[in-house]
Amino acid sequence: MLVSQGLSVSGATLLFNWHYKLRQFEPCTEDFAKASQKFIEENLSFALPEIDTIQESDDRTVKFLFKLHDGRKIETVLIPSNKKYGICLSSQVGCAMKCSFCHTGLQGLERHLGTHEIVGQLLAAQKWLTENRPDDDRISTMVFMGQGEPLHNFDSVRKAIEIFITQHGLCYAADKITVSTAGFLPGLERWKDEMPGVNIALSLHSMDTAKRNELIPINAKYPVEKVLDAIDKIPKKKKSFVIYEYLLAKGFNDAEVDACQLGERLQGKRAFVNIIPFNPFPGAKYERPTREEVDRFKAWLDVYDVPSLVRFTKGHDILAACGQLNSKSS
Ligand code: SAH
Repeated sequence: MLVSQGLSVSGATLLFNWHYKLRQFEPCTEDFAKASQKFIEENLSFALPEIDTIQESDDRTVKFLFKLHDGRKIETVLIPSNKKYGICLSSQVGCAMKCSFCHTGLQGLERHLGTHEIVGQLLAAQKWLTENRPDDDRISTMVFMGQGEPLHNFDSVRKAIEIFITQHGLCYAADKITVSTAGFLPGLERWKDEMPGVNIALSLHSMDTAKRNELIPINAKYPVEKVLDAIDKIPKKKKSFVIYEYLLAKGFNDAEVDACQLGERLQGKRAFVNIIPFNPFPGAKYERPTREEVDRFKAWLDVYDVPSLVRFTKGHDILAACGQLNSKSS
């Protein structure tokens, strides 16, 4: 990327090494050739997103509100799992998808994030962790499940993923990264060539057209059947699964018929269903099902031998759960 813009290969290697391998946050003090020095001074900035506020939950979840160079704000969440963390990254300020159950969606799209702002979330969160929890600072997985529709900002997300996985960069394995989409078909069609090996998560939420249209308005443009077919066509590694997220809203998509439609469609696929009980937020139009209702839904799905797990929320006390991220009202 940098090389195509005019930086020498050795200059780019030094820079990547300095920031990503040596984890230095200050401008690089290595000895650059004159031309590289000039390129860096004129073209690059090394500022990370600024931490506006941090909220720490009792369960080790950390929610960052980052301030970007134009004053806009985004959220990033560190989600604990055993002795590590997964990081939940944002891809846009707000979101254009307008999903009826999502706090971010109701905010509308303000702008896409640049690659540096996506990578910057990881670096800034890592820096904070290392400084504040030095014995507990491993971020092992990344999910694009924060604010925004990642495939609607495909180029920046793809370049950020390249930096995450390249051996010159952060050296994460592609299968440690999951991109979650509401079903943005143009992005899924590019996946095979441009994001090979990265895990796919689809926010499915209903197999019923009318219900899915209400939940995820882009279903009218990119119908779920076409989306599922596009996902089927993406080559997968032998042991990998596609994650299908199923938001469970009380009295809306939690009946036996909903579970049966889901089970029938996913039966026999390398599928894993994450059942996410709806996380309420102020002004929300859906309700969270009870524990019994969630268990009942899972039992109906189990009949089809489709593996699933109920995602009980972490960071609930700090509104850091799925769909609760809204940089305006935090
Ligand atoms: N735009 C992407 C990623 C962002 S949302 C997508 O749609 O997949 C990440 C996950 O949180 C999605 O599965 C989304 O449907 C879910 N989600 C959004 N709002 C929620 C809420 N209020 N309660 C539970 N899950 C929610």
